[in-house]
Amino acid sequence: MVNFFIKTYGCQANVADSQAISNYLQNLGCCRVEKEKHADLILINTCAIREKAEQKVFSYIGELAEFKVNKKYLQVGVIGCIASYRKKEILNRFDNVRFVFGAKEDLYKLQSLLHDIILKIETIKSLSSREQNLLIKRKSLTGSQIADDKKILHLGGFKNHTKEVKQSFINIMTGCNNYCSYCIVPFTRGRESSYSLDEILDRVKRDVELGAKDITLLGQNVNSYKDPQSNANFSKLLEKVAQIKGDFWVKFVSPHPKDMTKDVLEIMAQYSDKLCSYIHHPLQSGSNKILQAMNRTYTVEKYLEQIDWIRELLPNATISTDIIIGFPGETEIDYQKTVDVLESVKFDNVYSFIYSPRKYTKAALFKDKCPIDVKLERLKKLQQRQVDICKEQNNRYVGKIIKCLVEKRLTNGKLLARTEGNIRVLISGNDDKINKFVQVKIENAGAVNLIGSIIV
Ligand code: SF4
Repeated sequence: MVNFFIKTYGCQANVADSQAISNYLQNLGCCRVEKEKHADLILINTCAIREKAEQKVFSYIGELAEFKVNKKYLQVGVIGCIASYRKKEILNRFDNVRFVFGAKEDLYKLQSLLHDIILKIETIKSLSSREQNLLIKRKSLTGSQIADDKKILHLGGFKNHTKEVKQSFINIMTGCNNYCSYCIVPFTRGRESSYSLDEILDRVKRDVELGAKDITLLGQNVNSYKDPQSNANFSKLLEKVAQIKGDFWVKFVSPHPKDMTKDVLEIMAQYSDKLCSYIHHPLQSGSNKILQAMNRTYTVEKYLEQIDWIRELLPNATISTDIIIGFPGETEIDYQKTVDVLESVKFDNVYSFIYSPRKYTKAALFKDKCPIDVKLERLKKLQQRQVDICKEQNNRYVGKIIKCLVEKRLTNGKLLARTEGNIRVLISGNDDKINKFVQVKIENAGAVNLIGSIIV
């Protein structure tokens, strides 16, 4: 039997891809292991969104060399975003890497590639060590060398862990046409392409039948979804998903403000039993000057109008956002405008980062005069303020009874549940509550967690 290990960096799209690959390999009879030292095949699913993430991947690949010493047939494969545009460099730089498969390449081909590699490992493992040494020679396989395979891998994966909530991450589209000036995704994942509505619906139905309670629809730009056959848009897709029978929740990430339309919010309100009242609405900056430099194609005024739509149609919605601090040209005034939006919207959660220039992007050529310590200080102040806002926002739940989905037991002995708005809730209870919806009375609130007791 072939043992495999997958290391995943980056976003939920990568988590979904890794899970799908894992399911595929398990269907081939392979066993997923938790430690690299037990693996015959190591896959590294990479993320290129920040330079730091890239450095981490390279040093991790280097560290894997030690496992090759005692297991010469060990196969290491690099997949995902970095693999899309650093293929040659990775193969030249790391002797231990056997294949590189980019995120833009056809996942059907990855299936065939993995199939061939598994057969190869099984063959080598069955040989004596002398025969193994004779047989093993370095060979770089690429996706384009592999024949087509018609099995479905691209839609993502179902996480079926007995002691955790059953989650399904389903890719509804891939790639992006937006070319935000700071972002490498259009270069690593290619142009936007939506998957078939029928295939997505079949996948949701299947995963619900397998017990999935928590479905996340994924894409770089989910609200630009268009069914290739019928042209059905994102709100139609949500409606069809919500009409599937069963006891489950649906969330989606990430939408783009430029594609936000009221019909999506109306469908969310209409099917509020299934469609979570949770919107991740990426702002990036509160300054129109910076938004324009980022090529985000919306203004702060438009963004705030959309927040009003959300509040009007989904009054209890949880709203989170992304913010980039220190984009080239950001002055103290621009920064202050971002803080002003934070103050007026009162997000439930903010993912904030310092701008990191990425090779090949337009913004990498922009002049950046702001010193790093100024950027760090801005980030620190913004994050400190957001901690207080999160606390205020979470306080509104105290005394209320809310529906939660129980995810898993934490090391501190508590059960971790989440509201439909993705807010963590700590409760006491037995393991049989895991993967169940419960009603929880909220007794206390902090910036990160709510604390409560199960009522039903
Ligand atoms: S919308 Fe912008 S930030 Fe998001 S993936 Fe596309 S280019 Fe990148």
